[in-house]
Amino acid sequence: MIVVKVGGSAGIDYDAVCADIAGRWKAGERLILVHGGSGETNRLAEALGHPPRFVTSPSGYTSRFTDRQTLEIFEMVYCGKMNKGIVERLQRLGVNAVGLSGLDGRIFEGRHKDSVRVVEDGKTKILRGDHTGTVEKVNTGLLELLLSAGYLPVLTPPASSYEGVAINVDGDRAAAALAVALKAEALLLLSNVPGLLRHFPDEASLIREIPAAEVESYLEFAQDRMKKKVLGAAEAVKGGVGRVIFGDARAGQPVSAALGGAGTVVS
Ligand code: ADP
Repeated sequence: MIVVKVGGSAGIDYDAVCADIAGRWKAGERLILVHGGSGETNRLAEALGHPPRFVTSPSGYTSRFTDRQTLEIFEMVYCGKMNKGIVERLQRLGVNAVGLSGLDGRIFEGRHKDSVRVVEDGKTKILRGDHTGTVEKVNTGLLELLLSAGYLPVLTPPASSYEGVAINVDGDRAAAALAVALKAEALLLLSNVPGLLRHFPDEASLIREIPAAEVESYLEFAQDRMKKKVLGAAEAVKGGVGRVIFGDARAGQPVSAALGGAGTVVS
């Protein structure tokens, strides 16, 4: 089993990702696709007059502050445009893909965090009304049902809280939880960079290999959102996933290239 997570940043070639996945799926590989949609969510939020608000935690992690209106915009993009766009591509390629959010069948479940500690203008504040959380449980039964019947699951945040409330969760860490729950042999985190760069944005500074036991020490090279990917990778390898690869989704055969060792391999 391979879990592929493709991000939502500018420059990602979804046609290339879907074509590569379709080829591998038809050749008999078992895989699940998880996707993001942050770039498009930012655009729609601006257009709807509710611009995104990114907050930084005291430990330096950046996240989207998700009030109810933001959550609804988030769902329009992630569960709507992005999810159906990917499912349509795969269907056109002859793959019977089924697009679901983490809410559906409680595929991704976790605790709802209503308030968040943030640092703004050098001061720590508490913001309430946040619809966020972290995936703690995965409904593998539903996914196995789909896979065994020949459907390729295409998954996206939000997740469901234990109370059944939609929560925004980080896609990389959700994919990591999924890979652990399914005992995947590999987790691919594909984005618009060649991998983890030692000196971002210098693409020549690609880090090629990271020993699993040392992955957390590489957090220092990751800025803002890349930190969540490194954290997800650490969680996945700790949970028994064989390898995690940070790969490039901008062109070519992104999945095959990453599995072939292009990008940053954590193992
Ligand atoms: P996605 O939405 O595609 O999953 P993110 O935007 O969440 O991707 O994270 C990838 C981004 O992280 C890159 O586009 C890059 O701007 C940023 N980044 C920060 N530090 C690094 C680094 N050291 N190496 C690579 N990318 C980095």
